[in-house]
Amino acid sequence: MLKPGSTIGILGGGQLGRMIALAAAPLGLKTHIYCPDRDSPAFQVSDAHTCAAYDDGAALDRFAAGVDVVTYEFENVPLATAERLAARVPVRPGAKALAITQDRLAEKSFVRDLGIGTAPFAAVDDLAGLEAAVATIGLPAVLKTRRFGYDGKGQVTIRPGDDLSAAWAAIGRQPAILEGFIAFQREVSIIAARRADDAFAAYDVTENVHRNHILHRSTVPAAIQAEAAREARGIACRIASALDYVGVMAVELFVTHLQGRDTVIVNEIAPRVHNSGHWTQDGAVTSQFEQHVRAIAGWPLGDARRLGRAEMVNLIGDDVEQWLSLLAEPGAHLHLYGKDEARPGRKMGHVNRLWLDDAAARACAEE
Ligand code: AMP
Repeated sequence: MLKPGSTIGILGGGQLGRMIALAAAPLGLKTHIYCPDRDSPAFQVSDAHTCAAYDDGAALDRFAAGVDVVTYEFENVPLATAERLAARVPVRPGAKALAITQDRLAEKSFVRDLGIGTAPFAAVDDLAGLEAAVATIGLPAVLKTRRFGYDGKGQVTIRPGDDLSAAWAAIGRQPAILEGFIAFQREVSIIAARRADDAFAAYDVTENVHRNHILHRSTVPAAIQAEAAREARGIACRIASALDYVGVMAVELFVTHLQGRDTVIVNEIAPRVHNSGHWTQDGAVTSQFEQHVRAIAGWPLGDARRLGRAEMVNLIGDDVEQWLSLLAEPGAHLHLYGKDEARPGRKMGHVNRLWLDDAAARACAEE
């Protein structure tokens, strides 16, 4: 268990690392950010930073010597980096969560082997494999690279009549999976925390709307049936236990509605704090960032109850120019990431809106 005054090392210096660092400070914890990008937003709010490559062994060893625990803000941390650090200092969540979530085939197989629903999927290693996968799974389907896909990058939807070799070329002819296309009713996620001793806490299910493959808006509570929400919570709990997970994670789910009943299936696991959990900063008793810090420090998990109805809207590219009017809006909480240049598609900040609702908080407590 960490003592106040300890230092958390964070791999990755983007907005998630920044918000973890901001949440650590009120708990008397220091942060040291490790990131190769010179203008990392997290550097601005941390006690120390190392600007070095993820394969710089000497820099990693110095970093490990100066921190009490290491965590990360993105799942594409090279495994060799995590393993080198883990030989010197606890890395939380551990290498297992990274290894599985970095590879869509390993991730989907892991979820299916737990008896949890996913889209039908098949491994694709070459064009002949794609043809075979299409024959089994059918069309439409989504072809995704096994590794390094995010925000819709590295994936293409294949419809009946489409040229398979063009789809294979579009994802760069690299190891992939083909997933059956799910005509989902909505997309939701569940953000949950687990400690090493199996203590578990989940936030209410969040409903997510994407634009151009990037999260646009999250709202909570999600408009799904209570039974499906309970199922989502159970899924997160089983995944976290099976991964020996320590920290906050997100499970992204598709909701389908068949014969009057909502059903959830898993799309993706994120072994980190998640954009769809940003509402918790202003809409829950404990934010996902504080919760992550508590979990990796080995401290008691915080209260995950929701304070009311909440929404989070991302400020992408030029959206950030609304900052002044958002500041003037009653009930709105503005969060800016300290990035200089508002390039198209770049996440510059977000706004949380909260409608306090005693009844919602009570119902959540009684559940
Ligand atoms: P992913 O990178 O797997 O999170 O996918 C990005 C987005 O593509 C998801 O949020 C969905 O909107 C859509 N998508 C991914 N997989 C499927 C699927 N099997 N069926 C339908 N839509 C999908």
